[in-house]
Amino acid sequence: MNTLTLQDFVEKKLKKGICLLEKGDLVFLPDEDGWVALQSSTGRFIGQGYLSRQHKGVGWFVTASRDRVDQAFFIKLFTQAKAKRQEFLQSDLTTAFRVFNQDGDGFGGITVDIYGDYAVFSWYNTFVHSLKHQIVAAFQEVYPEILGAYEKNRFQGAPVETAYIYGQEAPDTFVIRENGVAYEVFLNDGWMTGIFLDQHDVRGRLVDGLASGKRLLNLFSYTAAFSVAAAMGGAVETTSVDLAKRSKNLSQAHFEANGLGLESHRFVVMDVFEYFRYAKRKGLTYDVIILDPPSFARNKKQTFSVVKDYHRLIAESLEVLTPNGIIIASTNASNLSVAQFDQQIQKGLVGQEHVYLQLDRLPRDFVYNKEDESSNYLKVYTIQVVNR
Ligand code: SAH
Repeated sequence: MNTLTLQDFVEKKLKKGICLLEKGDLVFLPDEDGWVALQSSTGRFIGQGYLSRQHKGVGWFVTASRDRVDQAFFIKLFTQAKAKRQEFLQSDLTTAFRVFNQDGDGFGGITVDIYGDYAVFSWYNTFVHSLKHQIVAAFQEVYPEILGAYEKNRFQGAPVETAYIYGQEAPDTFVIRENGVAYEVFLNDGWMTGIFLDQHDVRGRLVDGLASGKRLLNLFSYTAAFSVAAAMGGAVETTSVDLAKRSKNLSQAHFEANGLGLESHRFVVMDVFEYFRYAKRKGLTYDVIILDPPSFARNKKQTFSVVKDYHRLIAESLEVLTPNGIIIASTNASNLSVAQFDQQIQKGLVGQEHVYLQLDRLPRDFVYNKEDESSNYLKVYTIQVVNR
């Protein structure tokens, strides 16, 4: 194992509980991936971690102990993480949720989600991917009840995006439940699965009637999970807009899984900004508008980045919102703080009286690192516009 020396300021950061290692943290950064012992500039042992470049950072601090990180270590982590998810594991109403969440559960670079009887591992760098056999074996000890598993390779240079790992194969598509609502998912088709589990709470509030009796516009809708939740919670009409052609069939599958008719639910394959122009031209208005864009998107004509452009979505929404309507503004951009997101929203709302009704963050199964604000990446404001 290589021994690496940390810059002096890093020890303080690690003591505080931040685990992500960044390039500038190390006096010298070797090229190869692997376990490393970390020491101070005076040569004092600080702990162990690993190096492996990922989308964010160059590795993770793992433990202050000198003990070997082996299968028993992962069994302990999965057991502790499982104990924190009992309310989900015992629920019949919600059958898909996260059971291991990176540094929030003691090991950065891995997440594990359960979808009914199956598990989905996500590897965020090549080193954790190389530990797969050890990690998966540990998981199987802790979760003998899980029938089979898949993986998502979320790092550069991965041979495939998704693959089967062990056990029984899942059907191509099957239904999971969340707050009693059915969603059709698929575990072996690219990175996505048909639902983003981190939005449990927001969908939960829609199921509970946030949009009851209202007309809802769901922008960047993917499989229209928000629209289904709203329809189940009494929304009278929904319109779901996404650029991706396949979003339409996937959306209809969620509605059909709940026995909902499609008469009052529309699915539009269109660029969101184009849809705003279309809606204005046709005089269409909505009581509730949901905005959930990707952090960054590029199409033929323009680029959109949440950090710079979110305010445009808010300003456009105001033009098709009914008086006293509600905007649900979501972002999963970890590089945007709550304060910065707030600024984007304020810039879009300029001069428009409004009330913030709620700020949703990650749900309870997404146990995040309390010391690292950026690990609680989800921010969803529910905003009531006030027209007098
Ligand atoms: N709100 C969804 C998740 C959105 S993921 C949910 O709750 O499940 C982001 C989606 O934005 C993708 O489906 C992508 O196809 C879509 N998208 C990206 N750029 C777009 C654009 N300019 N107009 C419409 N949809 C867009």
